[in-house]
Amino acid sequence: MDAEVGIIGVGTMGSMAAWQLAKKGVSVLGFEQFGIGNDRTAAGGESRLFRTAYMEGPEYVPLLQDAKELWRQLEKESGNSLLTLNGGLMIGEAESPAIKTILKSISDFDLDHEILEGDQARNRYPQFKLYDDDLAVLDKDAGFIRPELAVVSASLLAMKQGAEIKRYTKVESITPESDGVSITADGKNYKVGKVLISTGAWTSKLMPELKEQLIPRRLLLTWFAPKDLTNTGVDKLPIFARMRGNFRLTGAPTLDGSMVKASYTKDPLAIEDPAELYRDVYPEELERISESVDALLPALLPDPVRANAYMDAYTPDGHALLGELPGWKNVIVGSGFSGHGFKLSPVIGKIISELLIDGKTGSNISHLDPGRILREVE
Ligand SMILES: Cc1cc2nc3c(=O)[nH]c(=O)nc-3n(C[C@H](O)[C@H](O)[C@H](O)COP(=O)(O)OP(=O)(O)OC[C@H]3O[C@@H](n4cnc5c(N)ncnc54)[C@H](O)[C@@H]3O)c2cc1C
Repeated sequence: MDAEVGIIGVGTMGSMAAWQLAKKGVSVLGFEQFGIGNDRTAAGGESRLFRTAYMEGPEYVPLLQDAKELWRQLEKESGNSLLTLNGGLMIGEAESPAIKTILKSISDFDLDHEILEGDQARNRYPQFKLYDDDLAVLDKDAGFIRPELAVVSASLLAMKQGAEIKRYTKVESITPESDGVSITADGKNYKVGKVLISTGAWTSKLMPELKEQLIPRRLLLTWFAPKDLTNTGVDKLPIFARMRGNFRLTGAPTLDGSMVKASYTKDPLAIEDPAELYRDVYPEELERISESVDALLPALLPDPVRANAYMDAYTPDGHALLGELPGWKNVIVGSGFSGHGFKLSPVIGKIISELLIDGKTGSNISHLDPGRILREVE
Protein backbone atom coordinates (compact mmCIF):
# COMPACT_ATOMS: atom_id res chain seq x y z
CA MET A 1 0.00 0.00 0.00
CA ASP A 2 1.37 3.44 -0.92
CA ALA A 3 -1.11 5.26 1.36
CA GLU A 4 -4.41 4.86 3.15
CA VAL A 5 -6.04 7.51 0.92
CA GLY A 6 -5.26 8.65 -2.61
CA ILE A 7 -6.49 12.09 -3.66
CA ILE A 8 -6.90 12.62 -7.38
CA GLY A 9 -6.75 16.38 -8.02
CA VAL A 10 -5.23 18.60 -5.34
CA GLY A 11 -7.15 21.77 -6.19
CA THR A 12 -9.83 23.33 -3.99
CA MET A 13 -11.52 20.28 -2.45
CA GLY A 14 -8.50 17.98 -2.74
CA SER A 15 -6.26 20.33 -0.75
CA MET A 16 -8.88 20.80 1.99
CA ALA A 17 -9.44 17.04 2.23
CA ALA A 18 -5.67 16.45 2.39
CA TRP A 19 -5.39 19.00 5.23
CA GLN A 20 -8.18 17.37 7.23
CA LEU A 21 -7.01 13.79 6.63
CA ALA A 22 -3.35 14.48 7.43
CA LYS A 23 -4.38 16.32 10.61
CA LYS A 24 -6.19 13.15 11.71
CA GLY A 25 -3.09 11.04 11.10
CA VAL A 26 -4.27 9.37 7.87
CA SER A 27 -1.54 8.75 5.28
CA VAL A 28 -2.33 10.64 2.06
CA LEU A 29 -0.94 10.40 -1.45
CA GLY A 30 -2.17 13.28 -3.62
CA PHE A 31 -1.84 13.69 -7.37
CA GLU A 32 -2.06 17.09 -9.07
CA GLN A 33 -1.61 17.49 -12.81
CA PHE A 34 -0.43 21.12 -12.42
CA GLY A 35 1.29 22.99 -9.57
CA ILE A 36 -0.10 23.63 -6.09
CA GLY A 37 -2.33 26.72 -6.09
CA ASN A 38 -2.46 26.82 -9.90
CA ASP A 39 -5.03 29.14 -11.47
CA ARG A 40 -5.73 26.91 -14.48
CA THR A 41 -8.97 25.38 -13.27
CA ALA A 42 -11.51 26.59 -10.67
CA ALA A 43 -9.44 28.31 -8.02
CA GLY A 44 -7.90 31.39 -9.64
CA GLY A 45 -8.69 35.07 -10.00
CA GLU A 46 -7.72 36.58 -6.62
CA SER A 47 -11.08 36.33 -4.87
CA ARG A 48 -14.00 34.01 -4.27
CA LEU A 49 -17.18 35.24 -2.63
CA PHE A 50 -18.40 33.98 0.71
CA ARG A 51 -22.12 34.36 1.40
CA THR A 52 -24.31 32.91 4.17
CA ALA A 53 -27.80 34.19 3.23
CA TYR A 54 -27.73 31.63 0.47
CA MET A 55 -29.62 32.03 -2.79
CA GLU A 56 -28.86 28.43 -3.78
CA GLY A 57 -30.97 27.11 -0.87
CA PRO A 58 -31.28 27.33 2.94
CA GLU A 59 -30.07 23.71 3.24
CA TYR A 60 -26.54 25.09 2.71
CA VAL A 61 -26.64 27.49 5.70
CA PRO A 62 -25.44 25.02 8.40
CA LEU A 63 -22.61 23.95 6.07
CA LEU A 64 -21.67 27.60 5.47
CA GLN A 65 -21.64 28.33 9.18
CA ASP A 66 -19.35 25.36 9.77
CA ALA A 67 -17.22 26.45 6.81
CA LYS A 68 -16.74 29.89 8.36
CA GLU A 69 -15.36 28.34 11.55
CA LEU A 70 -13.03 26.13 9.53
CA TRP A 71 -11.78 29.10 7.47
CA ARG A 72 -10.79 30.69 10.77
CA GLN A 73 -9.11 27.43 11.81
CA LEU A 74 -7.16 27.27 8.55
CA GLU A 75 -6.09 30.90 9.06
CA LYS A 76 -4.93 30.12 12.58
CA GLU A 77 -2.96 27.03 11.58
CA SER A 78 -1.39 28.59 8.49
CA GLY A 79 -0.88 32.13 9.80
CA ASN A 80 -2.44 33.48 6.57
CA SER A 81 -5.42 35.83 6.26
CA LEU A 82 -7.88 34.05 3.96
CA LEU A 83 -11.45 35.22 4.61
CA THR A 84 -12.43 38.89 5.00
CA LEU A 85 -16.01 39.47 6.07
CA ASN A 86 -16.83 42.95 4.75
CA GLY A 87 -20.51 42.13 4.07
CA GLY A 88 -22.40 41.03 0.98
CA LEU A 89 -24.94 43.09 -0.90
CA MET A 90 -27.50 41.12 -2.89
CA ILE A 91 -29.73 43.27 -5.11
CA GLY A 92 -32.52 41.95 -7.31
CA GLU A 93 -36.23 42.21 -8.02
CA ALA A 94 -38.00 41.68 -4.68
CA GLU A 95 -40.16 38.96 -6.24
CA SER A 96 -37.32 37.08 -7.95
CA PRO A 97 -36.60 33.47 -6.88
CA ALA A 98 -33.03 34.42 -5.84
CA ILE A 99 -34.13 37.21 -3.46
CA LYS A 100 -36.94 35.04 -2.07
CA THR A 101 -34.50 32.19 -1.34
CA ILE A 102 -32.03 34.61 0.30
CA LEU A 103 -34.86 35.85 2.57
CA LYS A 104 -35.86 32.27 3.35
CA SER A 105 -32.28 31.38 4.32
CA ILE A 106 -32.27 34.44 6.61
CA SER A 107 -35.60 33.64 8.26
CA ASP A 108 -34.95 29.89 8.63
CA PHE A 109 -31.65 30.51 10.44
CA ASP A 110 -32.16 33.99 11.90
CA LEU A 111 -29.13 35.35 10.03
CA ASP A 112 -27.62 38.76 10.71
CA HIS A 113 -28.73 41.07 7.88
CA GLU A 114 -30.23 44.41 6.82
CA ILE A 115 -32.94 45.05 4.25
CA LEU A 116 -32.53 48.28 2.27
CA GLU A 117 -35.23 49.68 0.04
CA GLY A 118 -35.36 52.49 -2.54
CA ASP A 119 -33.48 55.66 -1.59
CA GLN A 120 -32.10 54.11 1.56
CA ALA A 121 -30.18 51.64 -0.60
CA ARG A 122 -29.33 54.24 -3.28
CA ASN A 123 -27.88 56.67 -0.72
CA ARG A 124 -25.84 54.07 1.06
CA TYR A 125 -24.61 52.28 -2.06
CA PRO A 126 -24.45 54.82 -4.92
CA GLN A 127 -22.18 52.40 -6.81
CA PHE A 128 -25.31 50.51 -8.00
CA LYS A 129 -28.32 51.48 -10.09
CA LEU A 130 -31.52 50.45 -8.30
CA TYR A 131 -35.02 50.21 -9.77
CA ASP A 132 -38.20 50.68 -7.75
CA ASP A 133 -39.04 46.96 -7.74
CA ASP A 134 -35.54 46.02 -6.49
CA LEU A 135 -34.71 44.99 -2.96
CA ALA A 136 -31.22 45.13 -1.45
CA VAL A 137 -30.27 42.63 1.23
CA LEU A 138 -27.04 43.09 3.17
CA ASP A 139 -25.70 39.73 4.39
CA LYS A 140 -23.47 40.51 7.38
CA ASP A 141 -21.73 37.12 7.26
CA ALA A 142 -20.34 37.58 3.77
CA GLY A 143 -17.07 38.68 2.22
CA PHE A 144 -14.24 37.35 0.10
CA ILE A 145 -11.67 34.57 0.24
CA ARG A 146 -8.17 34.48 -1.31
CA PRO A 147 -8.45 31.30 -3.43
CA GLU A 148 -4.87 30.62 -4.48
CA LEU A 149 -3.54 31.29 -0.97
CA ALA A 150 -6.26 29.07 0.52
CA VAL A 151 -5.27 26.06 -1.63
CA VAL A 152 -1.57 26.66 -0.94
CA SER A 153 -2.21 27.02 2.83
CA ALA A 154 -4.20 23.78 3.08
CA SER A 155 -1.69 21.87 0.92
CA LEU A 156 1.32 23.09 2.92
CA LEU A 157 -0.34 22.12 6.20
CA ALA A 158 -1.19 18.69 4.79
CA MET A 159 2.42 18.17 3.66
CA LYS A 160 3.76 19.38 7.01
CA GLN A 161 1.66 16.67 8.62
CA GLY A 162 3.00 13.97 6.36
CA ALA A 163 0.89 14.03 3.19
CA GLU A 164 2.76 13.43 -0.04
CA ILE A 165 1.57 15.43 -3.04
CA LYS A 166 2.87 14.49 -6.46
CA ARG A 167 2.84 17.70 -8.51
CA TYR A 168 2.65 17.75 -12.32
CA THR A 169 1.47 14.16 -12.16
CA LYS A 170 -1.65 13.28 -14.08
CA VAL A 171 -3.77 10.32 -13.07
CA GLU A 172 -4.76 8.25 -16.09
CA SER A 173 -7.01 5.68 -14.45
CA ILE A 174 -8.30 4.28 -11.18
CA THR A 175 -9.38 0.69 -10.66
CA PRO A 176 -11.20 -0.58 -7.56
CA GLU A 177 -9.85 -3.94 -6.39
CA SER A 178 -10.90 -6.28 -3.59
CA ASP A 179 -8.28 -4.90 -1.16
CA GLY A 180 -8.12 -1.22 -2.20
CA VAL A 181 -7.85 0.90 -5.31
CA SER A 182 -5.06 0.99 -7.88
CA ILE A 183 -4.08 4.25 -9.53
CA THR A 184 -2.11 4.75 -12.72
CA ALA A 185 -0.39 8.11 -13.07
CA ASP A 186 2.16 9.10 -15.70
CA GLY A 187 2.66 5.42 -16.52
CA LYS A 188 3.35 4.31 -12.92
CA ASN A 189 1.10 2.21 -10.68
CA TYR A 190 0.17 2.99 -7.10
CA LYS A 191 -2.02 1.21 -4.58
CA VAL A 192 -4.12 2.93 -1.90
CA GLY A 193 -6.89 1.88 0.46
CA LYS A 194 -9.46 4.46 -0.63
CA VAL A 195 -9.68 7.20 -3.23
CA LEU A 196 -11.13 10.69 -3.43
CA ILE A 197 -11.95 11.96 -6.90
CA SER A 198 -11.65 15.75 -6.66
CA THR A 199 -10.83 16.52 -10.26
CA GLY A 200 -13.40 19.32 -10.74
CA ALA A 201 -14.02 20.25 -14.37
CA TRP A 202 -11.71 17.44 -15.52
CA THR A 203 -13.67 14.62 -13.91
CA SER A 204 -15.37 13.52 -17.11
CA LYS A 205 -11.93 13.19 -18.78
CA LEU A 206 -10.81 10.77 -16.08
CA MET A 207 -14.21 9.07 -15.88
CA PRO A 208 -16.09 9.40 -19.17
CA GLU A 209 -19.05 7.53 -17.59
CA LEU A 210 -19.79 10.74 -15.64
CA LYS A 211 -19.85 13.05 -18.62
CA GLU A 212 -23.62 13.63 -18.51
CA GLN A 213 -23.58 14.42 -14.78
CA LEU A 214 -20.44 16.56 -14.53
CA ILE A 215 -20.29 19.06 -17.35
CA PRO A 216 -17.24 21.33 -17.57
CA ARG A 217 -18.33 24.96 -17.96
CA ARG A 218 -16.25 28.04 -18.67
CA LEU A 219 -16.60 31.10 -16.45
CA LEU A 220 -15.11 34.43 -17.42
CA LEU A 221 -13.92 36.77 -14.67
CA THR A 222 -13.63 40.44 -15.54
CA TRP A 223 -12.26 43.47 -13.70
CA PHE A 224 -13.20 47.13 -14.28
CA ALA A 225 -11.69 50.50 -13.46
CA PRO A 226 -13.78 52.51 -10.97
CA LYS A 227 -14.64 56.12 -11.84
CA ASP A 228 -13.83 57.08 -8.25
CA LEU A 229 -11.48 54.80 -6.32
CA THR A 230 -12.57 56.22 -2.99
CA ASN A 231 -15.91 54.37 -3.00
CA THR A 232 -14.84 50.91 -4.18
CA GLY A 233 -12.47 49.79 -1.42
CA VAL A 234 -13.17 46.97 1.03
CA ASP A 235 -14.63 49.42 3.57
CA LYS A 236 -17.06 51.02 1.08
CA LEU A 237 -18.08 48.25 -1.31
CA PRO A 238 -19.31 44.88 0.01
CA ILE A 239 -19.01 41.82 -2.18
CA PHE A 240 -22.10 41.81 -4.35
CA ALA A 241 -24.57 40.01 -6.58
CA ARG A 242 -26.52 42.43 -8.76
CA MET A 243 -29.31 40.54 -10.47
CA ARG A 244 -31.96 41.90 -12.79
CA GLY A 245 -33.81 40.09 -15.58
CA ASN A 246 -31.18 38.23 -17.57
CA PHE A 247 -28.33 40.17 -15.99
CA ARG A 248 -26.37 38.69 -13.16
CA LEU A 249 -23.19 40.39 -12.00
CA THR A 250 -21.19 39.15 -9.07
CA GLY A 251 -18.11 40.83 -7.75
CA ALA A 252 -15.73 42.05 -5.11
CA PRO A 253 -14.31 45.43 -4.07
CA THR A 254 -10.94 46.80 -5.11
CA LEU A 255 -8.35 44.42 -3.70
CA ASP A 256 -5.29 45.47 -5.71
CA GLY A 257 -5.83 49.23 -5.37
CA SER A 258 -7.06 49.78 -8.91
CA MET A 259 -9.81 47.42 -10.15
CA VAL A 260 -13.22 46.09 -9.14
CA LYS A 261 -14.11 42.53 -10.03
CA ALA A 262 -17.52 42.32 -11.67
CA SER A 263 -18.30 39.19 -13.64
CA TYR A 264 -21.22 37.83 -15.58
CA THR A 265 -21.69 34.35 -14.17
CA LYS A 266 -25.16 33.34 -15.36
CA ASP A 267 -25.48 30.28 -17.64
CA PRO A 268 -21.77 29.61 -18.20
CA LEU A 269 -20.80 28.02 -21.48
CA ALA A 270 -20.39 24.22 -21.60
CA ILE A 271 -17.01 23.15 -22.98
CA GLU A 272 -16.04 19.95 -24.74
CA ASP A 273 -12.51 19.56 -23.47
CA PRO A 274 -11.10 21.31 -20.38
CA ALA A 275 -7.60 20.93 -21.84
CA GLU A 276 -8.64 23.29 -24.62
CA LEU A 277 -10.14 26.04 -22.45
CA TYR A 278 -10.38 29.31 -24.42
CA ARG A 279 -8.89 31.88 -22.06
CA ASP A 280 -9.65 35.02 -24.05
CA VAL A 281 -12.95 36.93 -24.36
CA TYR A 282 -15.53 36.20 -27.06
CA PRO A 283 -16.95 39.40 -28.66
CA GLU A 284 -20.51 38.55 -27.51
CA GLU A 285 -19.26 38.14 -23.94
CA LEU A 286 -17.60 41.54 -24.07
CA GLU A 287 -20.82 43.10 -25.32
CA ARG A 288 -22.98 41.44 -22.64
CA ILE A 289 -20.70 42.26 -19.71
CA SER A 290 -20.17 45.88 -20.78
CA GLU A 291 -23.91 46.33 -21.29
CA SER A 292 -24.72 44.94 -17.83
CA VAL A 293 -22.04 46.99 -16.05
CA ASP A 294 -23.27 50.10 -17.87
CA ALA A 295 -26.88 49.36 -16.82
CA LEU A 296 -26.34 48.27 -13.21
CA LEU A 297 -22.96 49.44 -11.93
CA PRO A 298 -22.54 53.12 -12.86
CA ALA A 299 -19.53 53.45 -10.51
CA LEU A 300 -17.42 51.56 -13.08
CA LEU A 301 -16.19 52.35 -16.58
CA PRO A 302 -17.92 49.69 -18.72
CA ASP A 303 -14.83 48.35 -20.51
CA PRO A 304 -13.05 45.50 -18.74
CA VAL A 305 -9.40 46.18 -17.99
CA ARG A 306 -8.62 42.56 -17.22
CA ALA A 307 -10.29 39.26 -18.09
CA ASN A 308 -9.51 35.61 -17.59
CA ALA A 309 -11.37 32.34 -18.04
CA TYR A 310 -11.66 29.52 -15.52
CA MET A 311 -13.89 26.47 -15.25
CA ASP A 312 -15.88 24.34 -12.89
CA ALA A 313 -17.87 21.10 -13.17
CA TYR A 314 -21.64 21.60 -13.22
CA THR A 315 -24.27 19.02 -12.36
CA PRO A 316 -27.74 19.13 -13.96
CA ASP A 317 -29.34 20.45 -10.73
CA GLY A 318 -26.52 22.78 -9.62
CA HIS A 319 -25.70 20.79 -6.48
CA ALA A 320 -22.42 18.91 -6.13
CA LEU A 321 -21.83 15.17 -5.97
CA LEU A 322 -20.39 14.35 -2.56
CA GLY A 323 -20.18 10.80 -1.28
CA GLU A 324 -19.62 7.24 -2.40
CA LEU A 325 -19.63 6.77 -6.12
CA PRO A 326 -22.38 4.18 -6.69
CA GLY A 327 -20.89 0.87 -7.83
CA TRP A 328 -17.29 1.95 -7.11
CA LYS A 329 -16.01 0.33 -3.94
CA ASN A 330 -13.78 2.54 -1.74
CA VAL A 331 -14.17 5.53 -4.06
CA ILE A 332 -15.60 8.88 -2.92
CA VAL A 333 -16.45 11.67 -5.32
CA GLY A 334 -16.35 15.36 -4.36
CA SER A 335 -16.95 17.26 -7.54
CA GLY A 336 -19.56 19.26 -9.51
CA PHE A 337 -19.66 22.29 -7.24
CA SER A 338 -21.39 24.17 -10.07
CA GLY A 339 -19.79 27.59 -9.64
CA HIS A 340 -20.42 28.02 -5.92
CA GLY A 341 -18.20 25.56 -4.04
CA PHE A 342 -15.19 27.55 -2.93
CA LYS A 343 -16.70 29.11 0.17
CA LEU A 344 -17.72 25.62 1.34
CA SER A 345 -14.40 23.94 0.66
CA PRO A 346 -13.03 23.57 4.22
CA VAL A 347 -16.23 21.93 5.43
CA ILE A 348 -16.33 19.74 2.33
CA GLY A 349 -12.75 18.66 3.13
CA LYS A 350 -13.81 17.81 6.67
CA ILE A 351 -16.87 15.86 5.49
CA ILE A 352 -14.74 13.93 2.98
CA SER A 353 -12.31 13.00 5.77
CA GLU A 354 -15.23 11.74 7.88
CA LEU A 355 -16.66 9.72 4.99
CA LEU A 356 -13.27 8.17 4.29
CA ILE A 357 -12.40 7.42 7.90
CA ASP A 358 -15.78 6.60 9.51
CA GLY A 359 -17.96 5.90 6.47
CA LYS A 360 -20.42 8.60 7.62
CA THR A 361 -20.71 12.27 8.51
CA GLY A 362 -22.76 14.21 11.04
CA SER A 363 -23.36 17.03 8.50
CA ASN A 364 -26.53 17.03 6.47
CA ILE A 365 -25.44 16.52 2.87
CA SER A 366 -28.50 14.69 1.56
CA HIS A 367 -28.93 17.31 -1.20
CA LEU A 368 -25.44 16.40 -2.44
CA ASP A 369 -25.93 12.62 -2.46
CA PRO A 370 -24.44 11.26 -5.72
CA GLY A 371 -27.15 8.56 -5.75
CA ARG A 372 -29.77 11.18 -6.68
CA ILE A 373 -28.43 11.40 -10.25
CA LEU A 374 -25.91 8.60 -10.57
CA ARG A 375 -28.11 5.54 -10.25
CA GLU A 376 -27.93 4.83 -13.94
CA VAL A 377 -24.09 4.56 -14.01
CA GLU A 378 -24.00 1.89 -11.30
C1 LIG B 1 -14.62 31.85 -12.34
C2 LIG B 1 -15.20 31.18 -11.14
C3 LIG B 1 -15.73 31.95 -10.12
C4 LIG B 1 -16.24 31.31 -8.98
N1 LIG B 1 -16.71 32.10 -7.96
C5 LIG B 1 -17.03 31.49 -6.79
C6 LIG B 1 -17.33 32.28 -5.66
O1 LIG B 1 -17.30 33.51 -5.71
N2 LIG B 1 -17.65 31.64 -4.50
C7 LIG B 1 -17.65 30.28 -4.41
O2 LIG B 1 -17.95 29.76 -3.34
N3 LIG B 1 -17.37 29.51 -5.47
C8 LIG B 1 -17.04 30.09 -6.65
N4 LIG B 1 -16.70 29.33 -7.72
C9 LIG B 1 -16.77 27.88 -7.61
C10 LIG B 1 -15.53 27.28 -6.96
O3 LIG B 1 -14.37 27.97 -7.30
C11 LIG B 1 -15.49 25.82 -7.38
O4 LIG B 1 -16.75 25.21 -7.13
C12 LIG B 1 -14.41 25.05 -6.65
O5 LIG B 1 -13.20 25.76 -6.69
C13 LIG B 1 -14.28 23.67 -7.30
O6 LIG B 1 -13.28 22.96 -6.64
P1 LIG B 1 -12.80 21.54 -7.19
O7 LIG B 1 -11.85 21.02 -6.19
O8 LIG B 1 -13.99 20.73 -7.58
O9 LIG B 1 -12.04 21.87 -8.56
P2 LIG B 1 -10.57 22.48 -8.77
O10 LIG B 1 -10.25 23.50 -7.76
O11 LIG B 1 -10.51 22.88 -10.20
O12 LIG B 1 -9.62 21.26 -8.52
C14 LIG B 1 -9.51 20.18 -9.39
C15 LIG B 1 -8.03 19.83 -9.48
O13 LIG B 1 -7.87 18.54 -10.03
C16 LIG B 1 -6.73 18.55 -10.87
N5 LIG B 1 -6.89 17.41 -11.78
C17 LIG B 1 -7.89 17.20 -12.66
N6 LIG B 1 -7.74 16.03 -13.30
C18 LIG B 1 -6.59 15.47 -12.82
C19 LIG B 1 -5.91 14.26 -13.07
N7 LIG B 1 -6.38 13.36 -13.98
N8 LIG B 1 -4.75 14.00 -12.41
C20 LIG B 1 -4.28 14.89 -11.49
N9 LIG B 1 -4.90 16.08 -11.21
C21 LIG B 1 -6.04 16.35 -11.86
C22 LIG B 1 -6.82 19.90 -11.54
O14 LIG B 1 -5.61 20.30 -12.11
C23 LIG B 1 -7.27 20.79 -10.38
O15 LIG B 1 -6.16 21.34 -9.69
C24 LIG B 1 -16.23 29.91 -8.88
C25 LIG B 1 -15.71 29.15 -9.93
C26 LIG B 1 -15.18 29.76 -11.04
C27 LIG B 1 -14.60 28.92 -12.12
